[in-house]
Amino acid sequence: MRSLLLAVLIVLIAQVTVAAPPCVRYPKGKAPATHALPLCEEKPSGNVDPLQRIAEMRKTLPVPADWHFFLVTEADWRKIQLGTHSAYSNLAYKTTFIRESYVESVQDDKLRHTIAHEMGHARCQCTDESTADRIADQLTQDSQ
Ligand SMILES: [Zn+2]
Repeated sequence: MRSLLLAVLIVLIAQVTVAAPPCVRYPKGKAPATHALPLCEEKPSGNVDPLQRIAEMRKTLPVPADWHFFLVTEADWRKIQLGTHSAYSNLAYKTTFIRESYVESVQDDKLRHTIAHEMGHARCQCTDESTADRIADQLTQDSQ
């Protein structure tokens, strides 16, 4: 009887694990410098999943394989106060935090340039905005 209960428990845990959506969201109240595992929450509104949009954009740009994108909810974005309206990259953690409402509201070209801009920071390993923009212009032209 005990092994039957254990088996049922294992099956239930496996189902929960398999059913978990492949989404990532930034944990509430954490500083962006931490590299904690992202948490999944409610599915975003809109026709196209913001994470799907980012994944599609990622395929068209030279994003390093070990680079991470964290989608940040509007409420969390306001709490964290990254000093930007769209995205922020932590170069040490190879992570871009991107605002969900921004992803949901901008056209493909603009979103693509924003991601390219963040990859500009990754390439130059610098925080200079004009350098990142120049690299972004080059990346978006090269990969069209
Ligand atoms: Zn920038």
